[in-house]
Formats: sequence, structure tokens, C-alpha cells
Amino acid sequence: MRKLPKPTDQPEVVYTTCISRVRDPSLKIRLMTCKQEIIDDSLAFDQHATNNTLHLIAEKNVVGNNVLKNEMEKVYTDRMVGKTSPGRVYYDKLITAPKNGICPLCGHRVVQTLDHHLPKAHHPSLVVSPANLVPSCSDCNKSKLNTRPSSPDEEPLHPYFDDIEGDRWLYAEVIQGNPVAFQYFVSPPSHWDSVKANRVQNHFDTLELSRLYSIQAATELSDITYLLSKIYQTVGADAVRNQLSDSAESCEQQHLNYWKTAMYYALAQSTWFHTVGVNQ
Ligand SMILES: [Zn+2]
Repeated sequence: MRKLPKPTDQPEVVYTTCISRVRDPSLKIRLMTCKQEIIDDSLAFDQHATNNTLHLIAEKNVVGNNVLKNEMEKVYTDRMVGKTSPGRVYYDKLITAPKNGICPLCGHRVVQTLDHHLPKAHHPSLVVSPANLVPSCSDCNKSKLNTRPSSPDEEPLHPYFDDIEGDRWLYAEVIQGNPVAFQYFVSPPSHWDSVKANRVQNHFDTLELSRLYSIQAATELSDITYLLSKIYQTVGADAVRNQLSDSAESCEQQHLNYWKTAMYYALAQSTWFHTVGVNQ
């Protein structure tokens, strides 16, 4: 997961903008009346996300006693996502935040949607709260749908609140064979507490990142096999290892826990690959 800066737009401003063009007088009054509850719930969300206690927030079916869940969901879909809707400016700001449009949850696929970190079906008061809206690829968005954390260990990582980029936790192992394959795994540093380690492992498992990264690594290796075998034939196995080490360091400059970084380190450390795997 890649860290993103927390959005600076205030929930009250975003919500007020979204409902600014509601024409039905009765609906408008009901939506305006529950504004304070939306502000309060957004503030509580921030505090719980900071303390890793989001699982303690109770689910709701109604906001402000008389705004139904489906009406709040329409505030998001009709008044924030719609291309000409008043809240679209905030949607665009949020969805374009990740560098190069890469999903912060998997660090590989392209952002296509906003993921409600706490689902809108269970937390209607947070449908347009910026801190609850995370840019995501479709696959990560779908994988998260069924997650219902009941403890801090099970809470999904949040790119605005969690930072796991400073320590190396993603590793890969070369599986000897023809074709060469890769096994990705999480190995948290010893100074992490168990909650942090479990959350990262759950993130890795829920989003099926092992499979995604293994497939990408196999494809990447296919692309460079000709080059590496040429280096082996002209300079030798040590040169192959040095080339792989340089590639690993170069990828690490981009992201420490990038699937390519883990892949190149695994290849650089495999003496089998430098002599046998490279020539298959
Ligand atoms: Zn993703």
C-alpha cells in the first residue's frame, strides 16, 4: 500500500456543495437538517482511523432520523460522481491524487473509482466525506466489499492514515523450474507490533496480491530473459547478478515495497538463477 496525503477539503463544504442543487424542497430540508450529523460522523471517522478503531463505528440505516440510506447513496452517485454534478470537482481531486494514476492499495493497477473505506451501504453519513473516499482500481474495490473487520487486526489499511512505506515488508522467492516462477510473501520487521503486522498480512491476502505480483514478475522476467542470457554468455554469471542488483536498487528508489523491487532482489540473491535459470 502506498501512502497518500489526507484530503484537505472539509466534509461540511463537500457535502454542502453536493446538495446545493437539490430541487425537491422536502428532500432539501431533510438533507440540510442532517448536516451536523455528517460533520460529527466525519470527525469521529478521523479519530477512529487515527486510533485504528474504525471497527467500533456503528452501522446506520438512517441519517438525521429521516434521510434514508438510499437517499444518501444518491447524494454520492448523483451529486458527486455525475460528470456535471456540483460535487464532481471534489471527486476529480480525490481520484487524481495518486502519482501516475496507480492504485495505492495494490500499487500496480490503474485507479478507476473511489472506494468507500467504510462501505456506503452501512455508513450512509460518510458517503461524501473525503477521508472515507480512497482512489482505487476496480479489483481492489471489489475485493474489499465483503470485508467486515471486528478487531484492530482485521482493519484494512488506509492510505491517508497508515504509513508502511518506511520499512521493507514485501519479499519474493525464486521458485526453481522452467519457467522460473516467484512466490511473494509478507515478512514484517521485528520492531512492528502484532496489530500492524497482521493488518499488512490481511491487506496482502484480501487483495490477493501474491497472485497479482507473481504473474507480473513472471511477465517481467520473460521480457528481460534475452538480455540476461546475452550478459551471461558475454561476461558471465557475476555480471548477471550485478545487473539484477542494479535493477533492484533502481526499483527501490521508486518504492521499497514494489513488486519489482522484491522480484529483482530475489533474482539477485539466487545463484541458481545466475547460472541455470538464466539459460533456460
Ligand atoms: Zn488496486
